[in-house]
Amino acid sequence: MHDRSHHHFPSHHHLQSRRDFFRILIGGPLAGASILELAWHRAAWARALAPAAAAPLFEIEKVADGVYFAQSRPQAEINCNAAIFVNPSGVLVVDTHSKPSAAAWLIAQIKKEITSKPVRYVVNSHFHWDHIQGNQAYRSSGGKIDFIASQPTSQLMSDLAQRRFQATLDEVPKQIDQMRIRAGKSSSAAEKAFCEEQVRQMQAYQSEMKNFTLELPTITFEKSYVIKDGAEELHLEFHGRAHTAGDVVVFCPAKRAIATGDMIHGAIPYMADGFPRSWPKTIDSVAGLGFDKICPGHGPVHQNRQLMISMRNYIEELTEKVEAGKKAGKSIADLEKTITVASLKSMQSNGYSQFLRDNAFKHSPQFGPAKSLQTGVNANIADVYNSLEKP
Ligand SMILES: [Zn+2]
Ligand SMILES: [Zn+2]
Repeated sequence: MHDRSHHHFPSHHHLQSRRDFFRILIGGPLAGASILELAWHRAAWARALAPAAAAPLFEIEKVADGVYFAQSRPQAEINCNAAIFVNPSGVLVVDTHSKPSAAAWLIAQIKKEITSKPVRYVVNSHFHWDHIQGNQAYRSSGGKIDFIASQPTSQLMSDLAQRRFQATLDEVPKQIDQMRIRAGKSSSAAEKAFCEEQVRQMQAYQSEMKNFTLELPTITFEKSYVIKDGAEELHLEFHGRAHTAGDVVVFCPAKRAIATGDMIHGAIPYMADGFPRSWPKTIDSVAGLGFDKICPGHGPVHQNRQLMISMRNYIEELTEKVEAGKKAGKSIADLEKTITVASLKSMQSNGYSQFLRDNAFKHSPQFGPAKSLQTGVNANIADVYNSLEKP
């Protein structure tokens, strides 16, 4: 446990093995094939990577000097984005996606597109599977590595994440069956190809994750953990409950950039593990930090604070409306009819609902029209309805 502690990057005693690892990575062309040279999970990676090897899994973008954002491309089993902070003697990566092969992709892309410095720290912003299941790839990459999370996140990873992982894995055969049925009924060659690609990705996930074990945090903290590396400082901070009981942000004061996981992002929020009463207050607290750019867990970089404010206002307005409705004796089904996208001021302000519609395709694979935004609002109504007792 480290509270308000300061931590310095260690000397380079571990670099030899990192170099060996990276020599393997950069020894050949960097796409698919060189990753397959890694002994670890070679077969699973081969299956996961082979047909898609031409297109990297992440689109890397510079946010500020030494701060990069890796936006994940849509995958059947969703991958979160990563934020990458390059310090003088090592790299800190925020979040690790849904599988080790995805994190291995990112390790290779960091090496190729950003820096030859080793990844020294991985932060898990919260305990959800699409942010933690790739940890193992960093452990396997050979150098000294620490995994950092808040105490509640660490607890949830030990108590709940393995069960949740099994539950997602158990769903995959059903999802494959549904996609095969859809492929059989598809009205165009393009739709059929889409379905087949989804099946391929889900099968790759199944075989890769068959023998999966979760890599747990090695460093946990309560409120704040500061990493000092020369003149650079990174602040890992817990500001209160929000999307989960343990969401943290990674803030770089010098570069005025912040990584926010799923507490602040550009998709309709997922609220089943959330604390709808606390969430807006937690965002208000984070908003007190001096940042301009936001690297979110899903969706594109936020160039300013508008989306953050929209998301905050939506959660607050929705919670107020659901609470009032529940007090008046309304059911979830009743509320789904009255709390519509058009009725929510937060959705109609500053282009928020339009942004969410325009970006829905970019998070998860889709063929044909996207699900209506109201479907997401309805899920939020049910989750808030059942979470009103939470602090
Ligand atoms: Zn997520
Ligand atoms: Zn999440």
